[in-house]
Amino acid sequence: MIRVLTARHLKYLPLPLLNILLKLKSKEITPILLYHAVMDQTDNNPLLSGKIHNVSPEIVYDQLSLLKRYFTILPLDELFEQVKSGRNLCGLGSITFDDGYKSVIENAIPTLSALDIPATIMIVSNLVKGGVLWRDKIRFIISKGLVEDFLGYLNKIGSMSLSKENFYIDSKNPGKFNSKQLDRMIEEYLKFSEFNLIMEKNIYLSEDMLDGITYKKVTFGNHTSNHYMLSGLTKEEQYQEIVDCETYLQSLNKETVKVLSIPFGGPDSYNYETISIAKKIGYRGVLLSDGKVNKGSEVSRLGMLKLDRFMPENDTKRYILTLLS
Ligand SMILES: [Zn+2]
Repeated sequence: MIRVLTARHLKYLPLPLLNILLKLKSKEITPILLYHAVMDQTDNNPLLSGKIHNVSPEIVYDQLSLLKRYFTILPLDELFEQVKSGRNLCGLGSITFDDGYKSVIENAIPTLSALDIPATIMIVSNLVKGGVLWRDKIRFIISKGLVEDFLGYLNKIGSMSLSKENFYIDSKNPGKFNSKQLDRMIEEYLKFSEFNLIMEKNIYLSEDMLDGITYKKVTFGNHTSNHYMLSGLTKEEQYQEIVDCETYLQSLNKETVKVLSIPFGGPDSYNYETISIAKKIGYRGVLLSDGKVNKGSEVSRLGMLKLDRFMPENDTKRYILTLLS
């Protein structure tokens, strides 16, 4: 029945009917949800405004309740274990939060706990240690109207050409930049321009906050040490990014998962080296964020499992439509 209904038809159906369709569809799919910030609103923070994936706490509650109603929610490690054992994944689901926003602790863990469901927080280890995400520095430059000035600075030091119009997107193009080098230049620029990010950087969970998580069904995973675009880095740089975060995870007295969440998570954000490093350090697989609802699992050339995730919109009906798509 769902197959004959196109997305165009589905969006006009009332919620109760969509729920029935979702119950039927659940036997065919394996959704892995990818959340980032969980706040009521992000407008008062120039690092977050308009450019960050955010779902409000109430909507996260609705979406997770629905997931629990129609799917068996597994901890991430167990989900990957199912694939390895050749079991069918249909009807299973999992929940992830990438980047380690502190709003996840404040606004999502109480919901996970109330619903008694597991989830994994994919941390960027240098952010937990108090660093600033290079994408936030880019957002900072945009929000302060400094794009032209920054591009002038890059020109002056004889480095890379970026267009003002596509600055945000181009700055993460692995074909154009090594994001580690770009990050260094932004650091220099912000120092030179006497801007500091201290006041506005406090959006990620700290080591203390991480220590304070007592809900037992939360596990932690690797989202690298600086969230650079891995495919634009050298093999050695990639190794350092992945292994540094793994070493940090091991130093925590927490339950961790052997799965790499690839920063940005699209098809161009990783390469053969990425998968080979993850395999070498004993990981079970990698998580992408290409926006698909899994209808099976993919095994890479190196025998590593790859599962995709999608980012729920801040709207429960659209979330259901994505699950039904
Ligand atoms: Zn991320």
